[in-house]
Amino acid sequence: MIVVMSVGATEQEANDVRDLVKSAGLTPHDNYGTQRVVIAVLGDVGPQRDHLMSKLNLMPGVDSVTPISRPYKLASRESHPEDTVIELAGTKVGDGSLTIMAGPCSIEGREMMMETARAVVAAGATILRGGAFKPRTSPYAFQGLGIEGLLYLAEAGKETGLPTITEVMEPSQVEVVAKHSDILQVGTRNMQNYSLLTAVGKAGKPVMLKRGYGATIEEWLMAAEYIVSSGQPNVILCERGIRTFETYTRNTLDLTAVPLLHHLTHLPVVVDPSHATGKRWLVKPMALAAVAAGADGVMVEVHPKPDEAMSDGEQSLTFGQFEDMASAVKKIHQEVRTLTKDPFAMTGSVRAGGTSKH
Ligand code: PEP
Ligand code: MN
Repeated sequence: MIVVMSVGATEQEANDVRDLVKSAGLTPHDNYGTQRVVIAVLGDVGPQRDHLMSKLNLMPGVDSVTPISRPYKLASRESHPEDTVIELAGTKVGDGSLTIMAGPCSIEGREMMMETARAVVAAGATILRGGAFKPRTSPYAFQGLGIEGLLYLAEAGKETGLPTITEVMEPSQVEVVAKHSDILQVGTRNMQNYSLLTAVGKAGKPVMLKRGYGATIEEWLMAAEYIVSSGQPNVILCERGIRTFETYTRNTLDLTAVPLLHHLTHLPVVVDPSHATGKRWLVKPMALAAVAAGADGVMVEVHPKPDEAMSDGEQSLTFGQFEDMASAVKKIHQEVRTLTKDPFAMTGSVRAGGTSKH
């Protein structure tokens, strides 16, 4: 449940609420990004729910007490009606602007990282990506440059002024990746690696959580809940395709996820058409469709010579293709914004409805 304090409530009144919640064996969790003090009650409330709700309702300084029907409490829009806006140096994610994350699949060396960074910033990228610790299907494939790669990414970010994002694969890497990168990426294969989710949640940096290739939207949001409940409110969700019977594409891009997530959660949503399709020529149309569907941004792979890339060359754009795609998505984004003032308004009915089995 969610306890909303009145505008003039004192800190003592809020503390009394927190104490009552704790005495019921539950955990009070302050919600960020809201005007008033809002305390989420976490844990299994069980049969004491009605009793606790009426007790809280009567406490001085309490404005309202409402149950949260979703199993993901902190990630739900019920608990946090305003969109989460993530502030990075020089850009914001989730504020209605268009986020364009771009860079190589793997950082292969200093020169290629710098060259790619200069090309993507010139074409309008707002966040720089590059893989240093690579999750590869084959143990014989290039595994990434590791810490050396992180240093090149950080240098390229500094030179171009772009915040950076890179994947972290295991809890032992979290500290070093958080030291060198502005956003931590959790990849599709690790979406349900709960010890990793908890570790990134404690690292003090925003996290981008990619959808597990076999995960439902609810499982994905439960994974986000691990991160938020571990202390990190700034989580970006990235739809990157799921596995279906279709083989022409690497994955099947589930664009329904975009408007659905905007209804279910306050967290920003971006789409990765590179890993979703696996084919360079499909990246632009799917990026356009993602932005038309209301995505807060896209993430795409770009390489100076895609045919020679050490990973994911088939889906990587050339600099020219990236420039073309970036200018097209910017136009679509402008167009979508002008169609209606608030095209993805989270108005009552859908938010209150839904199909949660819990
Ligand atoms: C990536 O973005 O580099 C990556 C490996 O993506 P995914 O986890 O979606 O496969
Ligand atoms: Mn890749």
